[in-house]
Amino acid sequence: MSENVKRLVVLGAAESGVGAAVLGKQQGWDVFVSDGGAIKPKFVATLEQHGIAYESGTHSIDKITTATCIIKSPGISEKTAIMKVVRSSGIEVCSEIEFGYRYKGDSKIIAITGSNGKSTTTMLTYATLKEAGYDVALVGNIGFSFAAQIATKPAEWYVMEVSSFQLDDIHTFRPYVAVLLNITPDHLDRYDNKFENYVASKFNITRNQQSTDYFIVNKDDKAIQQYLTNHSILTTTIFFTMSDNISDNDGGFIQDDNMRIRLEGDTMNMSIHDLALRGKHNQYNSMAAGISARIAGIRKEKIRETFGRFRGMEHRLEYVATIRGVDFINDSKATNVNSVWFALESMEKPTILIVGGQDKGNDYSEILDLVKQKVKAIICLGVDNKPIFDAFETVVDTIIETGSATEAVHAAYACAENGDVVLLAPGCASFDRFENYEDRGVQFKNAVKSL
Ligand code: ADP
Repeated sequence: MSENVKRLVVLGAAESGVGAAVLGKQQGWDVFVSDGGAIKPKFVATLEQHGIAYESGTHSIDKITTATCIIKSPGISEKTAIMKVVRSSGIEVCSEIEFGYRYKGDSKIIAITGSNGKSTTTMLTYATLKEAGYDVALVGNIGFSFAAQIATKPAEWYVMEVSSFQLDDIHTFRPYVAVLLNITPDHLDRYDNKFENYVASKFNITRNQQSTDYFIVNKDDKAIQQYLTNHSILTTTIFFTMSDNISDNDGGFIQDDNMRIRLEGDTMNMSIHDLALRGKHNQYNSMAAGISARIAGIRKEKIRETFGRFRGMEHRLEYVATIRGVDFINDSKATNVNSVWFALESMEKPTILIVGGQDKGNDYSEILDLVKQKVKAIICLGVDNKPIFDAFETVVDTIIETGSATEAVHAAYACAENGDVVLLAPGCASFDRFENYEDRGVQFKNAVKSL
């Protein structure tokens, strides 16, 4: 190996890590991948196909600390032994989006972050660009590695879902359009239980932006407002808001049941009743996606067409079935308290709420009023349900613990009457009982279908 070949070490061999390894190899780096656990067969196959050296089940410190640059999978916590060694070594640590960014050429990035609504807004924005005939790729946290896309099928536009973990290790990453949907407590276990650390990590999305770039941001969000009063943002900032108090500025507004998106003084209108995505939260998501699409130069008519058709995604307030007058809704992707708030807010019938799982330090007081108003019974799905009993036993008469999705569905159905709705909105991660939120949603749907 010649001396000037740089060594790239990738920690974590899943979608983003393997993608970064493939791009690194293509770009002439000496690449080594290290995963402390088992590597899924499909990723092993990709590593072998590209002749990339790897190890699994261990992290060999001597092979890792010889790196010029280390790429850390967003799933690896700073608290792990290996990250402590890496941080004290002083070697540059990059996230996969940072590494991909360095090879993106002239392409443009629309990067979307927030505590909730990222996937929906990313998909809606992507669909709008795609249907308008753009050369566009869907990348990031949504399940497709940005780096792999650049290595194998580069595009002119990237619509990217970005998590706060991916923003923690950026250095030059500079999206043309950055979207910040909202910030509510989530993942605090990874941020020393300090909300301000999590907020700062979300705002990293604007860190390298310049005045020719755009920052699209929710004006109604308290944490965002507070941050903006203390920090100045250098890029062109465009707000979206539910308030109908229209100023002359560019932005997104809801006025008289109309969504208005104004850019360079030119306004697009669309009735909220024509949006295929329902619920107040989706009006926020639609404003953010609509502003992004207009900045990308999509015609108003095309935006209206896609927004009128786009029906949302599996596991996000997904209607499953109506059985003897009882509706079943799968919102397995509601993995924090704020998304449960929006789910309950959009319920129009007496609700049996299936909640619980791996708690991330939840504060349920935020949904107490809605639970009082709408929830008849609570079915607990987690292993440790104490926080749920503590929060709700004085306001809901029936709280039942269950041990599986099937038991939860049966218990919920037994409490339900004609005209009720059973809502799976766990407000927690799924890993105590399920492989992931998709597995939880699928098990719920299967249980409903076999009632
Ligand atoms: P993310 O990718 O940020 O997790 P999703 O689009 O997958 O977001 O939605 C996650 C959950 O949050 C779902 O339960 C969904 O109904 C809810 N949700 C979607 N958009 C918003 C929003 N703007 N504000 C609050 N909750 C939302």
